[in-house]
Amino acid sequence: MIIVMDPGAQKKQVDEVMSRLKQFGFGIHLSEGESRTVIGAIGDRTKALSLGLEALEGVEKVVPISKPYKLVCREFKQENNIIDLNGAKIGGEKIMVMAGPCAVESEEQMMETAEMVKAAGADVLRGGAFKPRTSPYAFQGMEEEGLKILAKAREKTGLSIVTEVVNPQSVPLVEQYADVLQVGARNMQNFHLLLELSKAKKPVLLKRGLSATIEEWLMAAEYIMSGGNYQVILCERGIRTFETQTRNTLDLSSIPIVKQLSHLPVIVDPSHGTGVRHLVPSMCKAAIAAGADGLMVEVHPNPEKAFCDGPQSLTLLQFKEIMEDLRRVAASVDRTL
Ligand code: PEP
Ligand code: MN
Repeated sequence: MIIVMDPGAQKKQVDEVMSRLKQFGFGIHLSEGESRTVIGAIGDRTKALSLGLEALEGVEKVVPISKPYKLVCREFKQENNIIDLNGAKIGGEKIMVMAGPCAVESEEQMMETAEMVKAAGADVLRGGAFKPRTSPYAFQGMEEEGLKILAKAREKTGLSIVTEVVNPQSVPLVEQYADVLQVGARNMQNFHLLLELSKAKKPVLLKRGLSATIEEWLMAAEYIMSGGNYQVILCERGIRTFETQTRNTLDLSSIPIVKQLSHLPVIVDPSHGTGVRHLVPSMCKAAIAAGADGLMVEVHPNPEKAFCDGPQSLTLLQFKEIMEDLRRVAASVDRTL
């Protein structure tokens, strides 16, 4: 349930509600919005009725949340949850663009990519140092050496870094280097990983699972928020269907659905979402038009030689060109890029 405080409620009134909830064993999640404070209380609903919270001073109303995801839902936070990334904001007016290769392959490859995507207007550099591959014989990533290269690219360009973390044990290591911790589609329901990330101090980019429903995806986000990390960015990256022309079917309808159900920002990855380079520009445009808060695009200096996902990667020049088109689409929906 959520306890909505009066717009002018005082701190001591909020504290009183929280201490009563704690006394009865409720988990507390505080959301201090611009206009009012909302307290999320997770616990036994039947007990809640006997607490008499509605009679306390400063309390406007007590609302039960029937959805299984409590902290993720719009009822908990009416305004968009805006995430600050080294001064850049995800979930606000600006469309956040994350670009880079599938995997970190070498320092030269990352530096060249970082400088070009920065010049084209990207905000965040992507690149996997730990790669969860379908085949155990495929390139598995440069690991810590790759993270060091990413950190160097950040130093040189000022771009923030997003990179994948594949298991709970490596969260502290990846957190040392990355600005955003990515959970890959294959790990969306790795609940031990999600719980470890719920204690992290960095934002988490949560990709939608290969066959996950929107509700399962939001429940995965709830795991991260339940431990106190409210900085979750959702990423639609296509789902598995019967279609064979594309690698996945990019579910653009999930954007307005998620925006209605949740306050979390949602970005779109048309590279994995289609698996086909020439489809990426149009899906980027469609994602922005549909209300996405950002994009994640695979870009490589030489896609033909990429260690992974070359066929879906844009060249650096193609990326620069689409950014110009995307600026116009963003302006048409009152966003900037
Ligand atoms: C990736 O971003 O490189 C990746 C592996 O994506 P996904 O988890 O969406 O397949
Ligand atoms: Mn990839």
